[in-house]
Amino acid sequence: MQLPRALEREFNPWLAAEARFNEAATLLGLDEGLQKVLKSPAMEMTVHIPVQMDDGRLEVFTGYRVQHSLARGPAKGGIRFAPDVTLDEVRALSSWMTWKCAVVNIPFGGGKGGVICDPAILSQSELERITRRYTAELIDVIGPERDVPAPDMNTNDQTMAWIMDTYSMHKRTTVTAVVTGKPLNLGGSRGRVEATGRGCMIVTLQALRKFHIEPSQAKVVVQGFGNVGGKAARLMHKAGMKIIAVIEFDGAVYNANGIDPDALEKHRRETGSITHFPGAESIDKNEAMFLPCDVLVPAAKENVIDSRNAHKLQARIICEGANGPTTAEADKILNEKGIFVIPDILANAGGVTVSYFEWVQDRQGYFWNEQLVNGRLEEIMVNSFKDVVDYAERHSVHNRTAAYMLALDRVAFAIKLRGIYA
Ligand code: NAD
Repeated sequence: MQLPRALEREFNPWLAAEARFNEAATLLGLDEGLQKVLKSPAMEMTVHIPVQMDDGRLEVFTGYRVQHSLARGPAKGGIRFAPDVTLDEVRALSSWMTWKCAVVNIPFGGGKGGVICDPAILSQSELERITRRYTAELIDVIGPERDVPAPDMNTNDQTMAWIMDTYSMHKRTTVTAVVTGKPLNLGGSRGRVEATGRGCMIVTLQALRKFHIEPSQAKVVVQGFGNVGGKAARLMHKAGMKIIAVIEFDGAVYNANGIDPDALEKHRRETGSITHFPGAESIDKNEAMFLPCDVLVPAAKENVIDSRNAHKLQARIICEGANGPTTAEADKILNEKGIFVIPDILANAGGVTVSYFEWVQDRQGYFWNEQLVNGRLEEIMVNSFKDVVDYAERHSVHNRTAAYMLALDRVAFAIKLRGIYA
């Protein structure tokens, strides 16, 4: 579907990233030269990779890897496989990773990668050959000290195992720390799978506490019942909150007394959908996001809250589980409405935080139990929430602006300390 020109601009990830950057940089009074450095990705690589298909044909796929910043440590960020991946998108997402890592103060810069391909029509062996050849092309720019990829859209722990193996074959030694999000028995971390959802739950609890809302009184609406939204719903339910509605791409369910996410997951496993769940009534998926609630967790995809619908939201708190669920235009409306937004670069940073733990464990060759992982994650999320909210209050700005200002300031400080090599 063709979007009107104004919405096309509103939904463009690079322009969205730029809008947030410009606002924060101006408020910080950042030197113009430094702004140029912070805006420009440190490295962009495009590779055209020949791959033999199962039917014997030779196909060429295009892949990207962008390292936005290496100022605070190795680049960190996922690799996505999708038919519509663009360099603009990868560039924007890599800068998002820089700010996200800086907000939670972990020693990484930002990176992102992508391969233009349609996993839905590729066999496992074709996917493996694409992954391995893409890795081989990137061999000189990735590595535990340089750039540490992770799973993203349509890639998973198996993809990471292939990358780790290909990299290790080239280096003639097993290098588990080259990627995160690996299977547990190949150097993965306990707690990684639910880390993003857990992070969302932790910062939501902090926000509820700030507004003196008892978790047992908190009504939550979750959009997207996948890795982030499904785990967040389960952990929020466990923490006492009431999940009153769950929204998926094919329908939504509602129960004012609360939905049990485990039962809903079981129902979806058995029927293939969340709809017709016996523990709730089915409601219009296009209206469910606008239900009165204490917490809305958009955890499906980008640009779901935009200039056309933001005014309809009735949530007190928004915890952005997805990346970029709110457009910059919608930000203004949410601010006017006084909605307390926990911005994506803070709210969903639990995943990259436990990725950091995975990298540390691989390098130590010593693996932590789940309790230790979860405890350390909680400490980082609680401190980061406090850093952002205190900063917002101190500088009279909204949370998203505060998160960006804090992140830019940290990265700019690192660049200034290191100086410009000439
Ligand atoms: P996922 O594919 O596991 O889950 C997404 C869910 O949203 C799916 O169940 C899908 O059916 C549903 N969905 C898709 N379109 C929808 C729509 N229009 N309305 C309602 N539901 C819809 O993906 P995920 O890993 O949970 O990622 C979700 C978002 O969180 C993405 O923006 C991703 O970039 C971001 N994110 C993920 C992680 C992570 O660790 N997985 C970390 C940080 C950010």
